[in-house]
Amino acid sequence: MKRDFAVIGLGRFGGSICRELSEEGMNVLAIDLYEEKVNEYKNIATHAVIADTTDEKVLKELGVRNIDHVIVAIGDNIQASILTTLMLKEIGVKKITVKAQNDYHEKVLNKIGADQIVHPERDMGKRIAHSIISNNILDHLELSDEHSIVEVKAGPKMSGKTLVELDIRANFGCNVVAIKQHGGKEINVSPMPTEMIHQNDILIVIGADKDISRFEKQLVVEDD
Ligand code: ATP
Repeated sequence: MKRDFAVIGLGRFGGSICRELSEEGMNVLAIDLYEEKVNEYKNIATHAVIADTTDEKVLKELGVRNIDHVIVAIGDNIQASILTTLMLKEIGVKKITVKAQNDYHEKVLNKIGADQIVHPERDMGKRIAHSIISNNILDHLELSDEHSIVEVKAGPKMSGKTLVELDIRANFGCNVVAIKQHGGKEINVSPMPTEMIHQNDILIVIGADKDISRFEKQLVVEDD
């Protein structure tokens, strides 16, 4: 179903959200202060307009209150990001996602009622750091401050063993929630304890960060 989105701030982050949503067939209203940014998205978004979103009157005139989900991707100008979020809240936008620049920014955004706060650079940095540690750690997704999901490639230490033998839950307190067999297309989302792991199978593991870290060090990261 087509949904209505607005993306405010067409830097690299906002621009990429705008592009993806449009490619997925969504209605996107793209907004930026500067003409050259807006021109870039004229043929990508459903509508692209030059506007200063810290002005409540402008937001009302653009009909932003009827949009399902607004993404505030204003980066450096924290004051403009906060003011825009506040205005969107006041005019009654249902869902607001905001890019936070730092922890103070996040605190304020939480206080004024942003529904979702994202830190794309910080989160991407973490994910890349985990994959740099080992070629076998494919991805790392933060669920909360203390819990994550990791995607790992089974190396020799796991190969040829069943989940019971590896006993990842008892040994590390993590759960293997899904396995994708090497070369296969299917994902087994309820692996049996007797499931045999083969080299290069992909395991999706969920757990507390400290447990995942032990699991990675002992079973995933290969000795040089
Ligand atoms: P990125 O890293 O995603 O490229 P950034 O963190 O460098 O972005 P900025 O370039 O500071 O972020 O801001 C993103 C966009 O937001 C800019 O194109 C800027 O013109 C736009 N912007 C800033 N203030 C406003 C405002 N009040 N109303 C509308 N757009 C704004």
